[in-house]
Amino acid sequence: MSVRVIVEKCKGCSICVKCCPFSAIDMENKIAVIGDACTGCGVCVDECPFDAIEKTEDNVKKDLSEYKGVWVFAEQREGKLMPVVIELLGEAKKLAAEIGTDVSAVLCGDEVGALTHELFAYGADKVYQAVHPELKNYRTDAYTKVIQEAINQYKPEIILLGATHIGRDLGPCLAVRCDTGLTADCTKLEIDPDDKKIRQTRPAFGGNLMATIICPNHRPQMSTVRPGVMDKAEYVAGREGVAIRLNVSFDEDEIRTKIIKIVKEAGELASLTDAEFIVSGGMGLGNPEGFELLKKLAEKLGGTIGSSRACVDSGWIDHSYQVGQTGTTVKPKIYFACGISGAIQHLAGMQSSDYIIAINKNENAPIFEVADYGIVGDLYEVIPAILEQL
Ligand SMILES: Cc1cc2nc3c(=O)[nH]c(=O)nc-3n(C[C@H](O)[C@H](O)[C@H](O)COP(=O)(O)OP(=O)(O)OC[C@H]3O[C@@H](n4cnc5c(N)ncnc54)[C@H](O)[C@@H]3O)c2cc1C
Repeated sequence: MSVRVIVEKCKGCSICVKCCPFSAIDMENKIAVIGDACTGCGVCVDECPFDAIEKTEDNVKKDLSEYKGVWVFAEQREGKLMPVVIELLGEAKKLAAEIGTDVSAVLCGDEVGALTHELFAYGADKVYQAVHPELKNYRTDAYTKVIQEAINQYKPEIILLGATHIGRDLGPCLAVRCDTGLTADCTKLEIDPDDKKIRQTRPAFGGNLMATIICPNHRPQMSTVRPGVMDKAEYVAGREGVAIRLNVSFDEDEIRTKIIKIVKEAGELASLTDAEFIVSGGMGLGNPEGFELLKKLAEKLGGTIGSSRACVDSGWIDHSYQVGQTGTTVKPKIYFACGISGAIQHLAGMQSSDYIIAINKNENAPIFEVADYGIVGDLYEVIPAILEQL
């Protein structure tokens, strides 16, 4: 949606210049002129006393049938694919099979040969390669420009990105540039059997209900997907596909940020998404030292510890350990919930674990409703007993 000035009606009053929240309107020869910063919000249309600005539907009437294929943004860091890319490829395969199309990955970097083969092995039929030294590390302007140009040229129907820090930055920029919608943080994707559009489900209202969102009139349909939610694609060694090199060039000043230094955060950060065993603690631990006991069990199993948000908010443990709607979504083989009540926002991040074992003093705690095994008791008695058995 955009707006246009009806020159014959414009009286040069400048009300639109003052009311535009994006400073996108100037006066030239006493006539309003809409600039590139216009988002089509329509404030000027409502404010103009002479009805001299109107909304246009130019972009809405895209020919949607031109858009084909499911794309996955192949996020790489330091030459390694992020694990969520493999999950997205698994999901893209399922969606593509239902609408009878193929799966492509779009890969930006400065050396992408080995990653291209990995993407083929994980199911990509095509890999669009954007290769340039400026793309070695992620920067919003550079990645947005090359991927937007690729979208305009090749017209994918669906684009999936990981809901990582990078995906959450890039996805909205692409959606705005392509004049389409984006559903962030999806936990479920499915194809509508009737119209073949994608139905994107995500938690809403603090996790109290799940909203299913569609993008009926614009293309591509875009989603970011939480890491750890979807099943990983199968690796088929030697599987091949088609590599397509994108034209990449940048004008000076086109990339507004420079990377001066990459500083990695020191200290212990959790890697929850890949863990097969997670021993999570909640306020039932009583104090931060309680995590030491959980660590013993996690180490014995070769897993990691996790936490509820309440412990993070209390300063007991780093946020990187938080499981749940505003933390990490996990899918381990076994998830221990120790002294965790089972609030819906916590369940949103762990209920697709293969097995859930809950330990709680309160037999009515909601966590027992999702647990495969429930142990009613004091975790300070139960966990030492489990350790002894192990
Ligand atoms: C928008 C929003 C987003 C949120 N996001 C998240 C999120 O991502 N992750 C998350 O976890 N929460 C999240 N929350 C918070 C969530 O609603 C709960 O407040 C939180 O999960 C509660 O943490 P808890 O279970 O550790 O604590 P509590 O609810 O206080 O539960 C403690 C439990 O420990 C049990 N207990 C006590 N002593 C013992 C003992 N010795 N042995 C065994 N059991 C014992 C008690 O019976 C109780 O069930 C969010 C909330 C909002 C509003």
